[in-house]
Amino acid sequence: MTKPYDVIVVGVGGMGSATLYELARRGKHVLGIERYDIGHAMGSSHGETRMIRLAYFEGQSYVPMVLRAHHLWQELGKKFNTSLLEITGTLDIIEPGLDIVERGEAACKKFDLPYELLDADAIMKRHSAFVLPKDYRGLFQPDGGFVMSDRAIMTLTAAAVDLGAELHPREKVIDIEPLQNGGARVKTDAGTYEAGSVVLSPGPWITKFIPHLTGVAQPYRQVFGWFRPLKPELFSRGQFPSFTLKIPEGHYYGFPLHGNPGLKVGGPHHGREPCDPDTLIRENRPKDEVGLRDCLSRYLPQAMGPALTIKTCIYTMTPDEDFIIDHLPGAPQIVIASPCSGHGFKFASVMGEILSDLSLGQTPPYDLSPFRLDRFSTSIN
Ligand SMILES: Cc1cc2nc3c(=O)[nH]c(=O)nc-3n(C[C@H](O)[C@H](O)[C@H](O)COP(=O)(O)OP(=O)(O)OC[C@H]3O[C@@H](n4cnc5c(N)ncnc54)[C@H](O)[C@@H]3O)c2cc1C
Repeated sequence: MTKPYDVIVVGVGGMGSATLYELARRGKHVLGIERYDIGHAMGSSHGETRMIRLAYFEGQSYVPMVLRAHHLWQELGKKFNTSLLEITGTLDIIEPGLDIVERGEAACKKFDLPYELLDADAIMKRHSAFVLPKDYRGLFQPDGGFVMSDRAIMTLTAAAVDLGAELHPREKVIDIEPLQNGGARVKTDAGTYEAGSVVLSPGPWITKFIPHLTGVAQPYRQVFGWFRPLKPELFSRGQFPSFTLKIPEGHYYGFPLHGNPGLKVGGPHHGREPCDPDTLIRENRPKDEVGLRDCLSRYLPQAMGPALTIKTCIYTMTPDEDFIIDHLPGAPQIVIASPCSGHGFKFASVMGEILSDLSLGQTPPYDLSPFRLDRFSTSIN
């Protein structure tokens, strides 16, 4: 048995890498255990980019966190001499009958963020790649864009190691046992370790550790792809924003061309295909590409060139689509971190701070009540 750690981080993906870095930055004796390679493509965080939107229609309690995350991504990029955040502006486009624009606008007003409301004609005039029905509307927010997700995980993990964090990639955690002394014991396929506390950030594998969350944190198979546009100039930065598109076919999203010659498009966001992360079909199937083309053919026809790559990824959805961030009931030394529901990566930088605070017995300066476990009627409450 090695000397006890202050904290063990279980799962070094988006949230785990940021937490490992932040704990090491605070001078803590910290161990990160990851069952695959760092930056692997088996979980929820791979695929180069993740959108960051500030007009947060999902709920105003997210906005102070996303503002801090946005600041941190820029600061971390400067610190490590790389770019982790690309600002392109974000455009949320919706079909009639939904209040996403109103909710995004309310968030902008409350936090004094710049925004513009656009009708379909104004959107098509500004971004000629879009073909929209007349009654569609959108909200443009100039400060959003995308986080370089793969790069962020590698950068933060390497920085944590440079600061003294221990890293055990390719080691699988099998069990976490709360101890009478207030600490925890972590058993893996290679050894046993003890720590004052554990941050449990295993992404879509969360129910393997906490079976009571089955049905509450449900993994879903998702696909995204890179298409070579017929007219690439329409999709260049400046000409084309990062966007979400809520249409009858589903909820899609995409990014302007950046480094990669393919236009990245994902969706239908929240398409319901439950899966187990250990048995998921990772190869793409013909219907995956068809699902993405359903969006492109009607709304972005100039993107309808060949699909260069189609990838599979996993959302871990809660019934209300809010995160789970809490202490394990009866064992507060174990901090559960499941910030996903398809929109969590942008927060990883601030989650590093929040999860570090929680694992060290401190109170983060955010309203985390929407993310508590006791909002569900599971037997672990
Ligand atoms: C297709 C797609 C598009 C998305 N788009 C966006 C977006 O535009 N903007 C946004 O903000 N969010 C987006 N999200 C959501 C976001 O990517 C997730 O919220 C985020 O990646 C979750 O990070 P995580 O650290 O919880 O999970 P992961 O990054 O999957 O990390 C969990 C880690 O735990 C490890 N692990 C699991 N079990 C064990 C074990 N037993 N032992 C050791 N290690 C273990 C896994 O191997 C993994 O590395 C998207 C998600 C998907 C799938």
